[in-house]
Amino acid sequence: MQLLSDRILNMATSATLAMAAKARELRGEGKDIIGLSLGEPDFNTPDFIKEAAIQAINDDYNSYTPVDGYVELKEAIITKFKRDNGLTYTLPQIVVSTGAKQCLANIAAVMLNTGDEVLLPCPYWVSYADIVKLNDGVPVEVKTSIDTDFKMTATQLEAAITPKTKMIWFSSPCNPSGSIYSKEELRALADVLVKHPNIYVVSDEIYEHINYVGGHASMAQFEDMYDRTITVNGVSKAFAMTGWRVGYIGAPEKIARACNKMQGQITSGTNCIAQRAVITALNESPSRVQYMIDEFKVRRDLILDLLNDIEGFKTNTPEGAFYVFPNVTHFFGKTLRGKTINNATAFSLYLLEEALVATVTGEAFGNPDCIRISYAASQEQIIEAIKRIKEAVS
Ligand code: PMP
Ligand code: GLU
Repeated sequence: MQLLSDRILNMATSATLAMAAKARELRGEGKDIIGLSLGEPDFNTPDFIKEAAIQAINDDYNSYTPVDGYVELKEAIITKFKRDNGLTYTLPQIVVSTGAKQCLANIAAVMLNTGDEVLLPCPYWVSYADIVKLNDGVPVEVKTSIDTDFKMTATQLEAAITPKTKMIWFSSPCNPSGSIYSKEELRALADVLVKHPNIYVVSDEIYEHINYVGGHASMAQFEDMYDRTITVNGVSKAFAMTGWRVGYIGAPEKIARACNKMQGQITSGTNCIAQRAVITALNESPSRVQYMIDEFKVRRDLILDLLNDIEGFKTNTPEGAFYVFPNVTHFFGKTLRGKTINNATAFSLYLLEEALVATVTGEAFGNPDCIRISYAASQEQIIEAIKRIKEAVS
């Protein structure tokens, strides 16, 4: 009998985490790799949050928490949803999980049956497709391109819907494109979806605060979409808390209860100290972390300037998150330093080997024309990395 399940054998390794591991391994061999592959703020968690965690340890928070999170945390999340997004949720609609990633895994597990289709506007975050497949769903890619800022139009959405469409998953600001759907653009999508009342929306808003144009819009703000939107968020990005592993949803009560039941069998809930720290994080004004967003914006402008100086990198202007997603098709079919570049994966690998810069292939995000470059790195690192890339491709 085969040792491992078909389930795991059919699953792709997370390309972002795999590239980060590869960069770490090469560094271990003494290579001076600049890591622009992982979407992880390079800031430390702010002191006021760390202090709350230390306080929680000293206050002997050490027992199992309610599976769906401490009531005080769920209240802080309700306050945050109201304050930042104008969304009204009640306690049974909130579930705290081990990162937004587990929120997504829960949603797929409790909502998908075999063959249910999930629309994924491309490019989409790397783990969406595999989480869907793991739960016997069928990811359906909706292609967009750099010319439309990587955003799906209402017409494209309409054309992709079939009787099997169960959900649509998307992130705004988008990982990996940095694109942001305006309220009007979301409304146009909602106008299509209201004609298909059985389709649910997963609105992944984890980059909400990393927005350089202002005006974050949530799908759940529309009354006719509220009952079938699951709003996913978390503290990894805005609060520089990736390792703390806290994410949360606001959802229709039936779905929230199902997620609660699911994680009751899988994790028993999120780490108690991290939960206490997040109460403090969410009860504070988001202006406490504005300094990080200001710095990300400086870096975005810097990296765009530098990339636009290299022939063959076609960029748009990302409005949020901390990624650029240049189209690199110019290099396909070319031979650089004796290596033939046939696709984005080969190009990303070439940059790793020849420029010692780690990026991620767009193929992992459903767009084989692009690569993703994270600028959650210092300005010095960005300058040096793009200099090396320029040398490696000229
Ligand atoms: N959604 C998106 C779009 C992301 O980029 C990430 C990155 N980690 C996640 C969800 C998951 O975040 P976490 O599990 O760290 O909360
Ligand atoms: N979301 C980040 C990224 O896209 C972190 C890595 C991951 O969770 O896959 O790089």
